[in-house]
Amino acid sequence: MFSTMQDVPLTVARMLRHGSTIHATSTVTTWTGDPAAPHRRTYAEIGRRSAQLAHALRDELGVTPSSVVGTLMWNNAEHVEAYCALPAMGAVLHTLNLRLPAHQLRFVIQHADDRVIIVNGSVLPLLAPLLPGLDRVEHVVVSGPGDLSLLAGTRARVHDYEELIAGRPTTYDWPQLDERAPAALCYTSGTTGDPKGTVYSHRSIYLHAMQVNMAESMAFTTGDTSLALVPMFHVLSWGMPHAALLSGFNLLLPDRFLQPGPIADMIATERPRHAAAVPTLFQGLLHELAERPRDVSALTTVTIGGSACPEPLMRALDERHGIRVAHAWGMTETSPLGTTSQPPPGLTPEEEWPYRLSQGRFPAGVEARLIGPDGTEMPWDGSSAGELEVRGPWIAGGYWAGAGSTEPERPADRFSPDGWLRTGDVGTITPDGYLRLTDRAKDVIKSGGEWISSVELEGLLMGHPSVREAAVVAVPDERWGERPLACVVPVAGEADYAALRAHLGEKLARWQLPEHWTTIEEVPRTSVGKYDKKVLRARYAEGTLT
Ligand code: ADP
Repeated sequence: MFSTMQDVPLTVARMLRHGSTIHATSTVTTWTGDPAAPHRRTYAEIGRRSAQLAHALRDELGVTPSSVVGTLMWNNAEHVEAYCALPAMGAVLHTLNLRLPAHQLRFVIQHADDRVIIVNGSVLPLLAPLLPGLDRVEHVVVSGPGDLSLLAGTRARVHDYEELIAGRPTTYDWPQLDERAPAALCYTSGTTGDPKGTVYSHRSIYLHAMQVNMAESMAFTTGDTSLALVPMFHVLSWGMPHAALLSGFNLLLPDRFLQPGPIADMIATERPRHAAAVPTLFQGLLHELAERPRDVSALTTVTIGGSACPEPLMRALDERHGIRVAHAWGMTETSPLGTTSQPPPGLTPEEEWPYRLSQGRFPAGVEARLIGPDGTEMPWDGSSAGELEVRGPWIAGGYWAGAGSTEPERPADRFSPDGWLRTGDVGTITPDGYLRLTDRAKDVIKSGGEWISSVELEGLLMGHPSVREAAVVAVPDERWGERPLACVVPVAGEADYAALRAHLGEKLARWQLPEHWTTIEEVPRTSVGKYDKKVLRARYAEGTLT
């Protein structure tokens, strides 16, 4: 027998066609800094302008299917146009993380072999000094105001985005592509090593976007508005721009206004139902709202992931503002939706908490297993810990090995011999599939043959009213191998370490309590706003953190 179904490829062009017609009146709103004058564009306009951009890139700049085009941009409507036009025309969208250190940015531009870079004018000071060393970049397309004199002397041709697309046809005969063709390239943010390139296919983007929209994930539907605070240079903004094309929810984009004040203004004036970001952004928002209250009553759900969401943050958002947190786990290599924490039905609010605090359940597209220290598979009993391995249609099976390569790189520490992604995350899974991460394999503190979870210590410390932020790292110890060092940022004045130790002692065994303490001004952040413990470990090693 054979299937009698049509064989229709799942491509970004299909998504764009759907979004710009069926959801023609849905909007992409870009924050301008002025609450009275946000910039709005309908999906119909996004569709027309994406076609114009594709014509310009093909006819003027020589972009062909398989060309890689870099975007060095904030979250804004023009970036959405690049998200649509580039994959739909067969080229590869390479989102460049504008918070990477210069040497890593240069590395990823060269590694991906970007010939064209679309850049926001406000980011030119970052790109301009790199260009002299980037011989293969032929075109720089500048969107929005910026100091063009910074580009004087560069050998790449410089274009203005609006002038480039103006007057071109507003429809494009998008090519028929194989759904397995490359569509977008994201490098990991390199928290634990050199950036690695993950190449998403049309098929993976399409299937992942459908999952994003599902009720068990972000539950988007026409008429909704979501504030996409996750940078569009980080895991395709968790799939939201592409998901919006399918379900037609309105996108609210912060552009470069990622500070707590403007974020609170956006919520108060544009009234999104949903927002998504890493925990640190919401931590900042809570402090902002405590100091300068705004009406954030429209916001009922936020998806928080990227690092563990501390319980006090979840409770404070809920109790003070009626905002329910859906905790999610994922990574660049998982597109990123891996799990989302929706508790099972029929529980009381108190009974729901353990589920809400877990990283959540795996959707049908993600298969998971736990591998114990001896390499055997661990049971899903809620207590046996192991490294999480996953596989599925939107999970990476390897890394981009660079221009000219024909095979992905599959380092043994990231991919199992049978092709599963080794996540580097350690945790347990309950019989009904709830993942609870206890640590990153690299962050867990190995003390005398036992594991101490740095995440658990941090969560408890940040639950103490005198602590604004806390990060716990392993430091070498002659007797135990490693012991925890707690780095705390007090809300005000001096930290009282004895009181904090006593606070931890209420929940943890004595051997788990840190005996090393230090006060820092702020926890260093990675390029995507997560705590950067690599920096703390390095400071400890060089003696500047005691
Ligand atoms: P990087 O590895 O450079 O930080 P990613 O953004 O891909 O780049 O990070 C993925 C990692 O973030 C995961 O492997 C995991 O360690 C961590 N992470 C993501 N979501 C969560 C979460 N909800 N709880 C705990 N850790 C998380």
